[in-house]
Amino acid sequence: MQTETQSTDHAKTVDTICSFCGTGCGLRVTIEDNRITTVKGDKNNPVSHGETCIKGAMGWGYVNSDKRITTPLIRKNGELVEASWDEALDLIADRFGSIKEKYGPDAFGCFSSSRSTNELNYLAAKFMRTIIGTNNIDSCNRT
Ligand code: SF4
Repeated sequence: MQTETQSTDHAKTVDTICSFCGTGCGLRVTIEDNRITTVKGDKNNPVSHGETCIKGAMGWGYVNSDKRITTPLIRKNGELVEASWDEALDLIADRFGSIKEKYGPDAFGCFSSSRSTNELNYLAAKFMRTIIGTNNIDSCNRT
């Protein structure tokens, strides 16, 4: 859940919930020119009353990192090569299908990420349980 609380042409403040663990601390995130500039505790949050741990307050540098991968990569002849989303998703569907057929759904395991949103973690669990057919799903953000 996110609530935009203040905004101008170039900056806005959004109240949201920290996704690093299951405690559910409230964060007040300031975004300027589409980049996060500060994260503080949300005093109105009934769980955390404005407090955060260091992960909630400081652990967001990766969001603006220029080291993030923005294009799918497929290993070809030992080298990672840029690929289209269609090519990457077709390859994943093919490989997952053949592995599932040969070894069964419990051959898979998924370790989701606290750096994803709560919604993406929910989708990862749904995907593993309903599409792959396994309960082998975990994440570092469970408390
Ligand atoms: S990681 Fe820290 S700030 Fe985030 S929800 Fe957990 S205790 Fe709160």
